[in-house]
Amino acid sequence: MKRLCSFAKIKAMKNFEKLINESLQEVTHVGIKPGVITSFTINNRAKTRWGLCKQNPDRTFEIQIAEKLLIDDRISEKACKETIIHEILHTCKGCMKHTGQWKYYAEVMNQVYGYNIKRVTTGTEKGVEDYKSQNSMAIKYIFTCEKCGATIYRKRDSQFTKNYRKYGCARCGAVAWKKELA
Ligand SMILES: [Zn+2]
Ligand SMILES: [Zn+2]
Repeated sequence: MKRLCSFAKIKAMKNFEKLINESLQEVTHVGIKPGVITSFTINNRAKTRWGLCKQNPDRTFEIQIAEKLLIDDRISEKACKETIIHEILHTCKGCMKHTGQWKYYAEVMNQVYGYNIKRVTTGTEKGVEDYKSQNSMAIKYIFTCEKCGATIYRKRDSQFTKNYRKYGCARCGAVAWKKELA
């Protein structure tokens, strides 16, 4: 089992289960109704985002949280929950984009619990300065999915920045990226 090899890592990890349960409780406590979430998974490959909410064809949702949030002890549990809640809010009705209803719910959570849930959160705001050395590099491109409003940021040219018209959105599957210079 893979788990054995990464024992040290797992030992140091935050209690993901507990953070998920607390987040869900806090969301429902203020009367917000999340959609049907079939799984919460830890993504150990995510380098450029903290979390992701994916909608399945049957309208249920899968949430992924970046492993670095859970294993880096410079990042607080609160900062970790901000990401979990950010993604949970995307499962609510009419909340795929970071505007309208999603934004309203994020503001409710921020006011009631003192969170700082926003559209994009930098490493510094998570309590980690210069997460990667390239963090000091400026963002060069902003890509927006024209179907669901997901945004991704790129600091340098890559296969994706050149051939973005061929890539699907990780969240909604649409091939509809709009490219802008930052
Ligand atoms: Zn989001
Ligand atoms: Zn999309």
